[in-house]
Amino acid sequence: MSGPRAARGTSTTLWDGREWPCAGRYARVPVFRYGWAPSGLATVRQLAGQDLRPAGQDVAGWLVWKTRPSRRGWAYLYRVDLARPKRIPSAAQLASIARCNVVQQWCPTCRTDVGYRIPRSLGECVDCAETAIERDLARHTNQHLNAPAGAAQQHSNERVGHPVGVVIEHVEFRESA
Ligand SMILES: [Zn+2]
Repeated sequence: MSGPRAARGTSTTLWDGREWPCAGRYARVPVFRYGWAPSGLATVRQLAGQDLRPAGQDVAGWLVWKTRPSRRGWAYLYRVDLARPKRIPSAAQLASIARCNVVQQWCPTCRTDVGYRIPRSLGECVDCAETAIERDLARHTNQHLNAPAGAAQQHSNERVGHPVGVVIEHVEFRESA
């Protein structure tokens, strides 16, 4: 990451008229070494710590520090006097978020709030999905019972060693539907 590069022996006139030593400019913005930034400037993180945000103001400075011999860390500096309070979601927004969560917990099959997020792959609560699988297995079994004896025998022989195959088929069918 290439950040602003410091020059030596320069100073800048701050927004409030103070003359302040800086380490050159980068993109016409003064560069301050770590520990040398003037009061009244803060990084986004420092602002956030006071529940403030830059609120669309221009970058007022760069803060640079050495991380490793050949590398520099840097951060934008903003004027604290132009910062605004962080947006806090309104009651209506919070309600909408809560409603969203309720929708994701609402099983369309048994029409209850199941209290956990319903997996999209199932599209219904785990209980309903399991019941559906059982129902499907039962249907398969009934088909076998109703089918001519020879066919049923043949069919069930196919399934005997692969009971899981029925379940996988069922889930895949529901997903594509
Ligand atoms: Zn359900």
